[in-house]
Amino acid sequence: MMLPAASALDPAPKTALPMAGAADKPAAKAPAKSPAQKAMEKLGLRRDIDLALHLPLRYEDETRITRLADARDGEVVQFEGEVTHSEVLIRSRRQLLVTVDDGSDTCVLRFLNFYPSHQKTLSVGAWVRVRGELRGGFLGREMVHPHFKLAGGELPGALTPVYPTSAGLPQVYLRKAVLSGLARADLSETIPAPFLSKNMPLRLSSLREALQFLHHPTPDVALQTLEDRSHPAWQRLKAEELLAQQISQLQSRRVRAAMRAPALNGPAMRGTHCTLQEQLLERLPFRLTGAQQRVSAEIEVDLKKNVPMHRLLQGDVGAGKTVVAALAAARCIDAGWQCALMAPTEILAEQHFSKLISWLEPLGIKTARLTGSQKPKERREMLALVESGEAGLVIGTHAVIQSKVKFKNLALAIIDEQHRFGVAQRLALRSKMTHEGQEPHLLMMTATPIPRTLAMSYYADLDVSTLDELPPGRTPIVTKLVNDARRDEVIARIQAQIAQGRQIYWVCPLIEESESIDLVNATQTHAALSEALPGVMVGLLHSRMPPAEKKAVMSLFTEGVMAVLVSTTVIEVGVDVPNASLMVIEHAERFGLSQLHQLRGRVGRGAAASACVLLYSTGDAPRLGEVARARLKAMVETNDGFEIARRDLDIRGPGEFLGARQSGAAMLRFADLQTDAGLLAWAREVAPLMLDQYPDLAERHVLRWLGGKAEFLKA
Ligand code: ADP
Ligand code: MG
Repeated sequence: MMLPAASALDPAPKTALPMAGAADKPAAKAPAKSPAQKAMEKLGLRRDIDLALHLPLRYEDETRITRLADARDGEVVQFEGEVTHSEVLIRSRRQLLVTVDDGSDTCVLRFLNFYPSHQKTLSVGAWVRVRGELRGGFLGREMVHPHFKLAGGELPGALTPVYPTSAGLPQVYLRKAVLSGLARADLSETIPAPFLSKNMPLRLSSLREALQFLHHPTPDVALQTLEDRSHPAWQRLKAEELLAQQISQLQSRRVRAAMRAPALNGPAMRGTHCTLQEQLLERLPFRLTGAQQRVSAEIEVDLKKNVPMHRLLQGDVGAGKTVVAALAAARCIDAGWQCALMAPTEILAEQHFSKLISWLEPLGIKTARLTGSQKPKERREMLALVESGEAGLVIGTHAVIQSKVKFKNLALAIIDEQHRFGVAQRLALRSKMTHEGQEPHLLMMTATPIPRTLAMSYYADLDVSTLDELPPGRTPIVTKLVNDARRDEVIARIQAQIAQGRQIYWVCPLIEESESIDLVNATQTHAALSEALPGVMVGLLHSRMPPAEKKAVMSLFTEGVMAVLVSTTVIEVGVDVPNASLMVIEHAERFGLSQLHQLRGRVGRGAAASACVLLYSTGDAPRLGEVARARLKAMVETNDGFEIARRDLDIRGPGEFLGARQSGAAMLRFADLQTDAGLLAWAREVAPLMLDQYPDLAERHVLRWLGGKAEFLKA
């Protein structure tokens, strides 16, 4: 289901950055890397500043020695004492038990794995320093696998940081790397003093002080303020991060404002009595909703300007985005330019193709189609149509951005379900379409809306149009949660729907990174349903099928010949079969919220009452996990895509929400747009001032914080 990795298109080579330190040499010529170095790179720890900005998850307090008598069970404590007893016990498994006495109480250290060196250090009579979680045990108080060393030696003056790490990267190694990164990194001030005094908590520390503190806080700090990130040092970091993001967005907005795009002012050839748009509207079997008219007008205003449009059209599933796209395309083609429409899957491209063709070809518009699975001959013909400019409309999958595709004069690029494309692919689309120094207008469409506050505050470089009204005549979809154990009831329901001439989607589980298991599941379900529903045509659709076969299955379903379509998530986006009235989602607990909502949007497209059954299974657990439960509950409680997006944001947090949507890498690491609204307001105010008055500092600030990711934020 995933699009191919976009690495070949990656527009932001990380090696373009200034590097410091021998370990940071560009990948190509560097000597073989150790597993730890590789793991560090995976974590994005390439530059000194990256290391300095890699902040602890939590801290360990090794700064003090506690008397055992003063410590409570469950507490993590460090104490010093004498080993009074040591023995290897052989019960169900071999274990080492060591008793340590600190004069106030004793504690048993229990090791299930141990080496002779353990026994040597912990031999009777030795003085040791021990740190671990104290528990009330069988033999009195005990610690399981505590840290220990010989007593004596200085106590550290600061808390010990524990860093987020990954397999193959030992904490000790990482700690050293961070420490030296912190020492080497350029942490000179980038924010001029007058801007800092605009907001009091920021004055309290410089970036250098904030980082030094957060890596090694003094033991007297209120740990709560580190945990909830309300400490002034955290405030400073979050403000810096938000400022970098705002400056970067503003920069790209300004760069774009300086670029030129063809102003699509009206028909190239006068004389026809009405425009293509008017003709299209006349031929549509329905009237536009108020929302469709409004967003079309917003888009039209942009297209008439000679500055490239950068607009996101968001509207719930079924809100009618396609016709808005068609109207924009008609305006573009009418003005004598080409329009490209890119969809994430062949099925969706196909659907657009047939729908838009049925709308636009009667108006004399020629369409070219580009997909990955095309035969060479057909492809050559299509490429020629695109290059000569004969095709006004070009529709396809990511095949549209391949290097062989040359447009004659492209003025408008429309990307459907934009979140399904990598940022790199979107950038590639824009750059390849450059025509005599001009950029194309860009319209992105999504059914996974960004909550309004987020969109407005975060995307300084994106204009947003919203379809907040569904076409009339839709009946709301009723969503039910059903335990997988009650499958039979679901099958009875399917039979009832079929008896009424309706059609059914059955979506099979998505198991991450295991397409083959998905397939087994879908195949089994398909067989089981075929058997349970004799005389009914049950089809199977999955991503490994050859495109021609997919197309054949899809058209049987679209034409109403096939009653039940079992599928993996290939139907996730954009498929339009109004007669389908029941959607069954198997293992619904494994899907993300927005994905569930997208899937559900495949039904409820006609006038018939529609339903969505979320089949869930708790596996071996007695009940569902909390997050899965919150997701399913949201699905049952609301049909509104914006409400769903809001809840998704609550469940996942903005970092992950935006991250998953944009590039797979969270864009805000420290700040939280909800709790840090005040800092965001500060950053929005300061960003333009920095760019105008201190462009060099602004540049340095962005590079420090975003490095190679700055490009990504602009896409
Ligand atoms: P989405 O926003 O999910 O892409 P579509 O563009 O596929 O939605 O539209 C969903 C369905 O609604 C299509 O069958 C489309 O033809 C129909 N539709 C769109 N606009 C209207 C309207 N104003 N009135 C009635 N039906 C409409
Ligand atoms: Mg759509």
